[in-house]
Amino acid sequence: MVTAAPQDQWRLLDVQAHDTRLAQIAHRRRTLPEHAELEELAKQARRYADELVAARTVVTDVMRELTKAEADVEQVRVRAARNRARMDAGQGSAKDLQALQHEVESLGARQAVLEDAELEVMERLEQATDEVTRLESAEAELATRTAGVTARRDAELSALDAESITERRARDDAAAGLPADLLALYEKIRGANAGVGAARLYQRRCEGCRLELNATDLGALRTAAEDAVVRCEECGRILVRTADSGL
Ligand SMILES: [Zn+2]
Repeated sequence: MVTAAPQDQWRLLDVQAHDTRLAQIAHRRRTLPEHAELEELAKQARRYADELVAARTVVTDVMRELTKAEADVEQVRVRAARNRARMDAGQGSAKDLQALQHEVESLGARQAVLEDAELEVMERLEQATDEVTRLESAEAELATRTAGVTARRDAELSALDAESITERRARDDAAAGLPADLLALYEKIRGANAGVGAARLYQRRCEGCRLELNATDLGALRTAAEDAVVRCEECGRILVRTADSGL
């Protein structure tokens, strides 16, 4: 049976209050909304990165298509120019010249078709390039937002860490000099009871489990020695009696 002076039992309530606050700080640290926000932003960043790879691949492919389309146009243009030069030189028979004339005309038509195709590829290249630019600026904007949220998270974390250090110091001050067996019992109960090892008995109610004590238990408390460390029959926590206990 652990015993402790009433003053030490009251001080245990201070220790409990600091421990509760420390647990709240730790919980807040783990559940900052910025954590989820940053996770979401990182997901979006990965999506943009994937889309950029795809968009840049499209640009590369269309540029290759454009090179080919330009070469096709050039080939026809060179051939038509050569034919015109031959015609201008007036070499060959009338039949030859007529054949050349015919070829120049069909090359002209062919060139027009190829130039249209080239133009269409150029338009697609512009669209593909625009898409890369759009994604790059979206990515940059996302990076700025991420930096802002990261800074906010880090500020919150350092504030919580500072508060935690202060709270820890106050907790240690409150616990200093308390009987070792009382603290050991408190820690053991606390570990098994959602972080609450000691509770005040306030107006016949255990503040650990919020239940009102029955007449039998109250009677036992009334007769218990002042320095007896008593436990709540319902939740097992150390029950600290004060002037407001209603005994
Ligand atoms: Zn209780």
